[in-house]
Amino acid sequence: MARELSTVAVLGTGIMGSGMARNLAGAGIETRAWNRTKARAETLADAGVAVADTPAEAVGGADGVITMLVDGDAVREVMDADDGALSAMATDAVWLQMSTIGIAATEQLARLAAERQVDFADAPVLGTKQPAEAGELTVLASGPDEVLGRCAPVFEAVGARTFRLGETGDGTRMKLVLNNWLVTLTVGLAETIALAEQLGADPALFLDVIKGGPMGPAYAELKGRMMIEQKFDPAFPLRLADKDARLVLEAVDGDSAELPVTRAVERRLAEAIELGHGDEDMAAAYYASARRR
Ligand code: NAP
Repeated sequence: MARELSTVAVLGTGIMGSGMARNLAGAGIETRAWNRTKARAETLADAGVAVADTPAEAVGGADGVITMLVDGDAVREVMDADDGALSAMATDAVWLQMSTIGIAATEQLARLAAERQVDFADAPVLGTKQPAEAGELTVLASGPDEVLGRCAPVFEAVGARTFRLGETGDGTRMKLVLNNWLVTLTVGLAETIALAEQLGADPALFLDVIKGGPMGPAYAELKGRMMIEQKFDPAFPLRLADKDARLVLEAVDGDSAELPVTRAVERRLAEAIELGHGDEDMAAAYYASARRR
C-alpha cells in the first residue's frame, strides 16, 4: 500500500526551492532540504526544515523527493550519482521532478525512475520568486493519476492551482509552451522600451497607455518598470530564461525554420548574458536591445 506523502525532501533550495520548502514545512509536512551550497539551505532551519549534508541523507525515509535544480544535468547528477538520492530512496517513495528540464531529460529521468522502481511525477511550475514564497505557484502536473493523487498535499502546499495534464512529459510540454510565450513577451517588451527611448517617446507613458487594456498585461508593467529603472533584482534569472528558450528549440529539434522568433529571442538573451547580466532578472534582456541604440 503506497504511503501518504508526509515527509518530503527538497533537493535544491535556490530562489524557488527555498520558498517551496518553507511552505511545505508551514503546511505541517516534515521537510528536509539539501543544497549543494549548504549555507543557502541553512537559512531554512528557522522554518523547521531539517538541513542535510548529502542528497542521500535528505531522502532517507522520505515519502516524497522534490528536485528543484537548475537543469536536467544537475538533476541527473544529484539523483543518479553512486551515492546519490536514488540510491537511498525507498521504493514506495515518489520523485516529484519540479525543475524545468525539457522533454528529453524528463523522458530520460522518468525511465531512470522506472528502472529503480520509484514513482515519478513530472510537475514543473509556473510562477517566480514571490509566488514561490507565497505558496501560490501553478503546478503543471503529469503522470499516473494514482501518483499525482499522492502528491496532492505537496502541490497544495506550494501552489495555488494544479493542472493535471496527462501522461508523464505533458506537464513539461505545457511548461515549454508557457515559457516560450514568456521569453518572447519579455524580449519584445525590452525592444519596445529601447525603441521608445531611441525615438524620444517616454517609455513610462507607453506603459501607462497600455495599462489595464487588452494590450497591457500585468507582466509588462512589472518587467517594463524594471527596464526603465534598470533595477534587475532576480526573480527569474536571465540565465534560466535563456536555458528555457534553448529547451524550447531543442524540443523542435533546433530547426530554426520552425521557431524563427524564439531563435532570435534566444540570441538576445544570450547577448545580454555575454554582457554580464546572466544572474540578473530576465528583464535585463533590455541591455541587448539598449546597447544597439
Ligand atoms: P537558482 O536560484 O539558480 O537555483 C538553482 C539550484 O540548482 C541551486 O540549488 C543550485 O545550487 C543548484 N545547482 C546548480 N547546479 C548544480 C549542480 N551541478 N549540482 C547540484 N546542484 C546544482 O534557480 P531557481 O530559480 O531556484 O530555479 C530552479 C529551477 O526552477 C530551474 O529549473 C528553473 O528553470 C525553474 N523555475 C524557476 C523559476 C523562477 O522564476 N526562478 C520559475 C519556474 C521554474 P547552489 O545554490 O549550490 O548553486
